[in-house]
Amino acid sequence: MDRPRITIFDTTLRDGEQSPGCSMNVQEKLRLAQQLDRLGVDVIEAGFPIASDGDFEAVQSISASLRRPIVAGLARACTGDVDRAWQALQGAAHPRIHVFLATSDIHLKYKLRITREKCLEQARETVRHAKSLCADVEFSPEDATRTDVAFLCQVVEAVIAVGATTVNIPDTVGYSMPEEYGNLIRTLREKVAGIDRVTISTHCHNDLGLAVANSLAGVQQGARQVECAINGIGERAGNASLEEIVMAMRVRPDRYPYETAIAGEHLYPSSQMLAEITRVPVQPNKAIIGRNAFAHEAGIHQDGMLKNPLTYEIMTPQSVGVPDSRLVLGKHSGRHALALRCEQLGHQFERRELDEIYRRFVVLADRIKKVQDSHLLELIQDVASGTVSSSDVTGRQGKKFPPAAATLPFPRAVSAAAGANANDSHPAQISGSAGQASVSIPFTDHHSEQEDYLWGV
Ligand SMILES: [Zn+2]
Repeated sequence: MDRPRITIFDTTLRDGEQSPGCSMNVQEKLRLAQQLDRLGVDVIEAGFPIASDGDFEAVQSISASLRRPIVAGLARACTGDVDRAWQALQGAAHPRIHVFLATSDIHLKYKLRITREKCLEQARETVRHAKSLCADVEFSPEDATRTDVAFLCQVVEAVIAVGATTVNIPDTVGYSMPEEYGNLIRTLREKVAGIDRVTISTHCHNDLGLAVANSLAGVQQGARQVECAINGIGERAGNASLEEIVMAMRVRPDRYPYETAIAGEHLYPSSQMLAEITRVPVQPNKAIIGRNAFAHEAGIHQDGMLKNPLTYEIMTPQSVGVPDSRLVLGKHSGRHALALRCEQLGHQFERRELDEIYRRFVVLADRIKKVQDSHLLELIQDVASGTVSSSDVTGRQGKKFPPAAATLPFPRAVSAAAGANANDSHPAQISGSAGQASVSIPFTDHHSEQEDYLWGV
């Protein structure tokens, strides 16, 4: 079978990070980027380098650390932004400059206060400049779905002529309907000269709950890159959810005969890691990775499930990395089972770190019989803070072990972030060290500096 390959462009660290309460520091972004690499995303949009020093550093360190994926840096359509993005991407094995400029009349008139002619010229000149620095250039006409179609075609044609390699069509305000969005992609393919030479991309917001449906409609009409985010985070109601896009194609290849390079078993760990880092919990009924996504409560469903899981299950929990709930962690569990569960919760450890976690786990299991995920996360956090305060920190920080900044002042929040059972006994008490001083690495919230940039594609 020769199915078209869809490029998965993850913007969790850029658009996603712009959602309220989801800002991350450099170490946290690096840790998540490493997980995105394991997940198999093709492009990681690592940040908006001119927006703040924190964003610049994040793009720089992700560029230096990851070899396989393309690393993209966002830039407004001006020389200063492009140069700054290019500077941040210097260490990348596969750099991409992502330029955006609004094209809808409402944005041109009220936000940018420029004419269509000026917009066209600015898009062309900036892409030309970006291309002189970097072979891989993406252009996004912001608010494309509310842009006059003839003008949109003109802009897209102009940027292709000067070397853009990907053209992204953002539904910036989440206004489009699936059929409408699909038609727009088809129109561009029919009318724009040179469009066959570039990759068409979708970038859909979820204001009407249609981000995933719109993205899939775009793919059906020829888009070959989808921009999306873990847990669907992003501006306002969020972006298209990466896990939903990927699993829709995987579960329904009869309707969506496309391939991605995503390793399904890393979906849930990625979701868990993001929730833990941002402390923004996943809604329980969230498709694919929510706590209840594979829970069966009604008797008739349970009965069917026991007779044959296919009665009520369209995909297995294992296929998306949801831990096997039948695997109970207790004092008889081995190191391997513990390591596996840690991994499923988004934590990978080196041997020495695992030894310490295992030692504490055995003590705990002896006391409480059944160790819940929330307990385990608590324990991991505890060891993490201990690790950073010890003398052998060199070379480890920001590698695989969670940074101390992730240490939570309120242990209950860990349980919430992990989607753990709210009835769990007080996790703060189990580690026996609730009162210990955690190492404080300042949590840099650069959103205040970013206010002027809180619009993107
Ligand atoms: Zn966006």
